[in-house]
Amino acid sequence: MKIKNYINGAYQKPLSNDWLDNYDPSVGEVYGQIPNSNSHDVEEATAFAKAAFPAWSSTTLEERSRILLKIAEGIEAQLEKLAEAESRDNGKPISLATTVDIPRAASNFRFFANAITQFASESHESTGTNTINFTLRKPIGVVGCISPWNLPLYLFTWKIAPAIAAGNCIIAKPSEVTPMTAYLLGEICTNAGLPAGVLNIVHGLGNTTGKAILEHPDIKAISFTGGTKTGEHIARTCAPMFKKLSLELGGKNPNLIFADCNYEEMLSTTLRSSFANQGQICLCGSRIFVERSIYAKFKRDFISRVEELVVAHPAQENANLGALVSKSHLEKVEDYIKHAEDYGGKILSGGKRVNVDGYEKGYYLQPTVIEVSNNHCRLNQEEIFGPIVTIMPFDKDDEALRLANGTKYGLSATVWTQNLDRAMRLGNTLEAGIVWINTWMNRDLRTPFGGVKASGVGREGGFEALRFFTEAKNVCIKYN
Ligand code: NDP
Repeated sequence: MKIKNYINGAYQKPLSNDWLDNYDPSVGEVYGQIPNSNSHDVEEATAFAKAAFPAWSSTTLEERSRILLKIAEGIEAQLEKLAEAESRDNGKPISLATTVDIPRAASNFRFFANAITQFASESHESTGTNTINFTLRKPIGVVGCISPWNLPLYLFTWKIAPAIAAGNCIIAKPSEVTPMTAYLLGEICTNAGLPAGVLNIVHGLGNTTGKAILEHPDIKAISFTGGTKTGEHIARTCAPMFKKLSLELGGKNPNLIFADCNYEEMLSTTLRSSFANQGQICLCGSRIFVERSIYAKFKRDFISRVEELVVAHPAQENANLGALVSKSHLEKVEDYIKHAEDYGGKILSGGKRVNVDGYEKGYYLQPTVIEVSNNHCRLNQEEIFGPIVTIMPFDKDDEALRLANGTKYGLSATVWTQNLDRAMRLGNTLEAGIVWINTWMNRDLRTPFGGVKASGVGREGGFEALRFFTEAKNVCIKYN
C-alpha cells in the first residue's frame, strides 16, 4: 500500500516520486511505501499553508471550534480502522490503540475545540497614567509540527489540534516509522470541512523532510516531540532564525516506592508504568527505587507479575506487550541487555527475544528487570525506551530524592506513599515537569505537560499550548 502526502486538502505523490519502505513490526516485513519527501514538497506545502492563513486566521472561533469537533467525531467514527492501522504500524497491542491512543486523538480535538472558546487574554488599567493595556493573542502563521513514533496519532494531534484552534496553518511531519494514522487523518479533516491548506502532512525522513521544515523561513514556530539529541539539533538549527520552539524530549523517569504505600495498587500500576506500549512511552518509569524494608518482597512480587505478562502478536486480545517499533530500535534496546553487566546491572528477569508462533521475524522482546547497584551506571543514565526497568533499594527520603534527581533528564516522576508530608515535600523538590503521587499517567488535558533539564523546553496542554501557538501583542491606549 502506498500512502501519499496531504497537501492543500488533497492527497498527492511526492514531487520526486521517491518512496520509502514501511515495515509491519509484528511480522518484520515491508507492508507499504511512504513518500520520501524533500525540500520541494515542503516548499509547495508551505506556499499553500501561507496562502490559506489569512482566511483561516480570520475565521470565527465558533467556526474553528465546530470543525475541530467534527474532526473528533470523524476519528471516533473510524476508531477500529485507525486502531488497526496504528497497531500494524507501531506494533502496539490493538487493545491499547483502541482504548487509549485513538480515543485520546479524538479527545485532543474535542478539548481544544472547547478551550479556544475560553481562551481569554489580559487587560491592565494604569490609573496614574490614564492608560489601558490589553493583550491580543495573534496566531503565528505557518507552524511546523514534528512528532515521534511511540504514540503516533495521539502525539500528532496533541500538536495539530491547538495549532489549528489558535488559527495557524500547519506543515506536519509524523515519524517516518509510523505514518499511517496521520495519513488517514487527512481525509477525516477534509470531510470535517477543514479548509484546504490549513493542515499539510508531509511524510519522509527527519534529516530531509524534517530538515526542510526546520530551515524554511516562512515556518515561524516548531513544535517537536522526540529524542533529546534531535531536540538539541533542532534548537541549534532554529536559533539563528529565532523560531519559537516547543521541545518535548526524552526521559529517564524515577519511580519512588516507600514502605507505607498502598502495596497492591503500587504493584499493578508499576507493572503498567514499566511496560505499557513495550516501555516506549516517554513517561514510563524506567528507574524503580524501593525503600529497603520492602525491597526483597517487592523484587519477588514484581518479578512474578512481570513473568505473567503475555508477549504476543498485537492483534491477539490477551497481548500485554506487542512488538517493538523497528528492527533498529530492537537492536538498540537489546544492546543494553547484552551489555547489562558492563553497564552496571544484573538481569533478574527477561532479557531474551520472544519467538511468537507464526511471526518469527517480528520484533518481540521479553519485559526485562535489571538490578543495579548505583545510579551512575549507563543503565540508569541513558534513555533506553524499551521494555527494560532497573530496580535498586534506598534507605532514606533524602537519598531517594538524590537518586531520582540524579540524571540529566526531568520529564516525570512517580511517588508511592501514604505520608502526606513526604508526598508534598517530594512533589515540591523532584526535578520534573510532572509528578504523580500514588498514580501514573493520569492526564487532565487542562494541565501543563512537559519536562525540565534535558527533557525539554516549554509546555503543552491546556492554555499553555494555545499560548505557544499564538504571539502576545500588547496594545496600550491613553485616554483623558
Ligand atoms: P526522534 O527524535 O528520532 O524523532 C522524532 C521526530 O523527529 C520524527 O518525526 C523524526 O523523523 C524527526 N526527526 C529526526 N531527525 C530530525 C531532524 N534532523 N530534523 C527534523 N526532524 C527530525 O525520536 P523518536 O521518533 O525515536 O521518538 C522517541 C523519542 O521521543 C524518545 O526519546 C522519547 O522519550 C521521546 N518522546 C518524548 C515525549 C515527551 O512528551 N517529552 C513523548 C514521546 C516521545 P524520522 O522518524 O524520520 O527520524
